[in-house]
Amino acid sequence: RYRMPRPSHRRVLTVANQKGGVGKTTSTVNLAAALAMHGVRVLVIDLDPQGNASTALGVEHRLGTPSVYEALLGEIRLAEAAAESTASSNLLCVPATIDLAGAEIELVSMVARENRLRQALSPEALDELDVDYVFVDCPPSLGLLTVNALVAANEVLIPIQCEYYALEGLGQLLSNIDLVRAHLNTSLHVSTILLTMYDGRTKLADQVTNEVRGHFGPTVLRTVIPRSVKVSEAPGYSQTVLAYDPGSRGAMSYVDAAREIAERGAEMPVPPDRDG
Ligand code: ADP
Ligand code: MG
Repeated sequence: RYRMPRPSHRRVLTVANQKGGVGKTTSTVNLAAALAMHGVRVLVIDLDPQGNASTALGVEHRLGTPSVYEALLGEIRLAEAAAESTASSNLLCVPATIDLAGAEIELVSMVARENRLRQALSPEALDELDVDYVFVDCPPSLGLLTVNALVAANEVLIPIQCEYYALEGLGQLLSNIDLVRAHLNTSLHVSTILLTMYDGRTKLADQVTNEVRGHFGPTVLRTVIPRSVKVSEAPGYSQTVLAYDPGSRGAMSYVDAAREIAERGAEMPVPPDRDG
């Protein structure tokens, strides 16, 4: 059975795009599950108050559950909030409860407000969980939660929907990433762009694909995620599509995309030590 290559260093990928409904959560949980099912240890941080990633991974996120909110406040260790997903014993998730909805505003007046997640994801905290990959699923905004995710990561993964207006707002996201790199996190870079919800019957999907590849070149994964009913049905059963219908095109394309990400990572140079 194929095993994903382990990265030469721990990879923290923030999945960001301030547009809602482009496939951030779907890509986060399915890429994470694909990696975990093929032998690497993965942690998903649900940073969206909606808690959709927690749901898809079968992880409790009722109010009162230890969650990313308490970890951001520094009240608990990350490991105290991390729960094993139903997708794989190699896949952990730190859930989001509705408490997180207030955090966007509460963070404003906090000390080191942009560094809260980075502090929670300290090397010691991640050693304790023994994970090779961390995926951070962002809310659909460029607010302080997303800034925290960008400061905590070395890589950004941007899902782009093969639809009208797919590139709208992308410039703003990229300039925010540049600002974070300039002022808060020099190791940050856009490592991966994933085209999602591709519908081969439309000319538009090919136009968007060509435009994105023309603009971003090899940052764009060769694998494209097709629009598929199975992908959209799976969260309704608190499952990833890999568990819900492993033979479906949607499931197989997420495995292919995860393999590309893992194979690229195996060749990546070790980043310089991060300060702070
Ligand atoms: P985001 O996290 O960016 O808001 P989601 O991952 O929640 O986006 O996806 C938005 C909606 O589109 C969800 O209902 C999801 O089930 C559906 N969806 C995502 N990817 C696909 C796909 N490849 N095919 C069909 N539906 C999809
Ligand atoms: Mg989402």
